[in-house]
Amino acid sequence: MTITAAELAAKMQRKKSYVPPNVHYCCSECEGTGFVYQLSREIDFRGKEVEVKRWSNCSNKTKANLISQSGLHDSEYTKTWKDVRDISNTNVAKEAIIETLERGFGWVYLWGEVGTAKTLMLQIAVSEYQKKLKQARYVTMANMTDKIRLAFDETAQNVAIDREITKWSAIKLLAIDEPDRVKQTEFVKQRVFQIIDNRYRTREQGITLMAANVPPDECDPYFASRIGDGRFEVVHLLGQDMRGVQSYG
Ligand SMILES: [Zn+2]
Repeated sequence: MTITAAELAAKMQRKKSYVPPNVHYCCSECEGTGFVYQLSREIDFRGKEVEVKRWSNCSNKTKANLISQSGLHDSEYTKTWKDVRDISNTNVAKEAIIETLERGFGWVYLWGEVGTAKTLMLQIAVSEYQKKLKQARYVTMANMTDKIRLAFDETAQNVAIDREITKWSAIKLLAIDEPDRVKQTEFVKQRVFQIIDNRYRTREQGITLMAANVPPDECDPYFASRIGDGRFEVVHLLGQDMRGVQSYG
């Protein structure tokens, strides 16, 4: 069976404009299946011209998946660098993050008092990185440790917790807010250490951003030793009334 180019175009058009009702995830490109195809005319082994569907992932679905895994609310997701007020040395932090996003790997540790846009900058980094269709996640340390604690199940040989550690270790861009704020049990602390250590060892493959209230040397020793590594950027954000640039060191 053959169809004309006009019929093919009409068919593609119908496919594009059809949006199924009552589907949780509505996408006019893939109808919620997550896959799209292009029809192409090819010659089969008998030398006959046939119509073949070439399937690929729907880019809207990829985007939606990334957004759902970002850890950001809609209102946070739409923020951009323009929303960061140019106070004190937010520009230094901004540049350090942008450079790291462009490079595709590395660590940036921001610290300073409340009201210095640290959280906002982490969130923008996540949403900017996802615009390149790359996996990025914002999380508070409190939230991450909760998830680790919930995954712990003595009866299941810790499969869930291993999975949790692997997941947090492998996220392409992980932005951890308030790493210094959580009282942890020894058990959770060990698991967090494993994640940080995995990310440290693969520091040339992924990005780790942190925003804390204290300088690295006031963090847990296991943090301090890794963040103190000269290859990482540490930016001290000063309060609004102060001017100038100061970096940790
Ligand atoms: Zn789609």
